[in-house]
Amino acid sequence: MLKGKCAVITGSTRGIGKSIAIKYASLGCNIVINYKSENDEVNARELSDEICKLGVDTLIVKANVGDFEEAKNLVEKAKEKFGKVDILVNNAGITKDNLIIRMKEEDFDSVIKTNLKGAFNCLKAVTPIMLKQKYGKIVNMASVVGVVGNPGQVNYCASKAGLIGMTKSLAKEIGSRNITVNAIAPGFIDTDMTKILSDDQKKKILSQIPLNKFGNVEDIANVALFLGSENSNYITGQVIHVDGGMAM
Ligand code: NAP
Repeated sequence: MLKGKCAVITGSTRGIGKSIAIKYASLGCNIVINYKSENDEVNARELSDEICKLGVDTLIVKANVGDFEEAKNLVEKAKEKFGKVDILVNNAGITKDNLIIRMKEEDFDSVIKTNLKGAFNCLKAVTPIMLKQKYGKIVNMASVVGVVGNPGQVNYCASKAGLIGMTKSLAKEIGSRNITVNAIAPGFIDTDMTKILSDDQKKKILSQIPLNKFGNVEDIANVALFLGSENSNYITGQVIHVDGGMAM
């Protein structure tokens, strides 16, 4: 389904990004693996080995997507190695939760810088390539809380709501060049990011999910595959909710 394509997936050493990388690779896609922290170097190498066994090629690029030059370098390295970038998944994201009265300015800034500016930085670098190719699939990882809000997450919700606005604007800007831009709004997915929630918090969240369970990374990877493939060719500017029915 993705045979011979090249996908850059930001934040792909763990959680949702890793699952998307394996899903794409299993269908023939070459993968550019990205991460930020030194500690993730081993994860990146292990993932690369796992993916190469599927018969595709990988490139590992350590880059902080929040840094304009590093994001540019990530995309340039991908183009250098594979000659093109067919798919960009803006997945890298962080949380720094707190009630606004306790939230530090730097916690607001760092979340916006990674989740929103990071996506912009990668889009800035990849758009000229995709425009030239007259082909591209962009998938932005938003969140259900970017649509409905969540106490204790003004920074995170603002970043994800911003990402949704960015998705729609860019979809309108570059749609005529055969480039689709969509967002996924996951609900609560079992990853390192949600492991930090207390049992009480989890119980409260569960009571708001009609399907009465948390999602898993595969649930998100399946939709990312759809949006990264030819099966979604006539879909752009959309936010696909994968949240067990939380927002409807
Ligand atoms: P995760 O398990 O915490 O993994 C996050 C990944 O992003 C890691 O590979 C991390 O690498 C990378 N990353 C973080 N900051 C980065 C930066 N500045 N530059 C490059 N890479 C960076 O998170 P996840 O739960 O899989 O979440 C993935 C995406 O889905 C995020 O955008 C998140 O907001 C969104 N989402 C998650 C949920 C959920 O319930 N899990 C719900 C809605 C939306 P390093 O560790 O090396 O920094």
